[in-house]
Amino acid sequence: MAEVQNTRLYGLLRVSPDVSDSDLKKAYRKLAKEFHPDKNPNAGDKFKEMAFAYEVLSDPEKRQLYDRFGEEGLREGAGSDGGMDDILSHIFGHGSLFSRFMGGHSRNSTGAKHRGNDMVQPFGVTLEDLYNGKTSTFTFTKNIVCATCKGVGGNADVDVQKCAACEGRGVRDIVCQIMPETVQHALCTECNGEGELVEESQRCKACNGHKVIKSEKELEVHIDKGMHHGQKITFRAEGDQAPGVEPGDVILVLQEKKHEVFVREDNDLTIRCKVSLTEALCGCRIDLRHLDGRELLISYPEGIVIFPGCIRGVLNEGMPHYRNPFEKGNLNVKFEVEFPNNHWIDSSKLPELEKLLPVRPDLPTPSKDVEEVFLHDMEPSSNAGGRQEAYDRSSDDEEEGLHAGPGMQCSHQ
Ligand SMILES: [Zn+2]
Ligand SMILES: [Zn+2]
Repeated sequence: MAEVQNTRLYGLLRVSPDVSDSDLKKAYRKLAKEFHPDKNPNAGDKFKEMAFAYEVLSDPEKRQLYDRFGEEGLREGAGSDGGMDDILSHIFGHGSLFSRFMGGHSRNSTGAKHRGNDMVQPFGVTLEDLYNGKTSTFTFTKNIVCATCKGVGGNADVDVQKCAACEGRGVRDIVCQIMPETVQHALCTECNGEGELVEESQRCKACNGHKVIKSEKELEVHIDKGMHHGQKITFRAEGDQAPGVEPGDVILVLQEKKHEVFVREDNDLTIRCKVSLTEALCGCRIDLRHLDGRELLISYPEGIVIFPGCIRGVLNEGMPHYRNPFEKGNLNVKFEVEFPNNHWIDSSKLPELEKLLPVRPDLPTPSKDVEEVFLHDMEPSSNAGGRQEAYDRSSDDEEEGLHAGPGMQCSHQ
């Protein structure tokens, strides 16, 4: 089980992080009854939070994400193709209520708005971007206060009327099938949760009385050398605007894309390298194009043996340290050794080769009634039962070893 670092959602359901699925369900049902808006109309926000906590913790995948990365991890996991944000906006209608209750600071205890929600977005970067640094742009759509009516919704002295869609409550009941309880509350999209609208005939033409309009915004994103996957870049107060509300932040969470050659771990880079047996024994050179385009020739001295699976390193050729880019991590090379094929050399030359290789260990003198059996090449595709049978046969009777079973051949002639 993943190490649990985050407990807020467990706390909402009054359970401990090692709770079983069935106990989780029981706890949620009990609390849902207690806080259901029908019985407890003032607990709407609490109910929404609990429903969300249950939604996350009852799903093994989301629970694991949460345990490891917290609520941020759930946001990052929410891709554009059916992620959490999609599910929730599907349930709750237009706009991301998800970020509203995840942001948590949109309303104070009296229900008055004072700060808008933060907008958290994943931002894909390549390993080259993180190595070299880069300036790119992030374009998004946000609400800005309507310039025509200065956020009033009409003329300066308009009449307001109760929002018909939510009957002035600012939230609407939306039936959903995912949770055990089927009624959820969502912020009313007609009045943006204010519960009132400018009287229809007096509405500003530009924003139709909504006080805000959608606008496209472009931000310049500075990727510094050595930044990490998951690192956040915050743009203060660039979130949705609304009259009388301090806008929230736009927070980009860097998502490092998988690289074809390099694997990054902290500030170290690792590459995999396949060398021949000759190179493994007699020295090798590796030609490598680095992330900044430099061509490196990595030499390994002759006489120092490369073992299959061994890791050798080049100092200071890893990732630049964040905010100290002249310091760098190391570049590790993980070796795979490719052995020659069968009969790559004429058998008559083997004694000559053997003379060059390390001395073979002495065999113990065989006793008189020793039973000799042979090793065979086994095709990886043959099933386990077949292999077992092949072993049994050859140990039962050495002659049987020549009856090559399916997927196996006898190399001893
Ligand atoms: Zn307007
Ligand atoms: Zn409304």
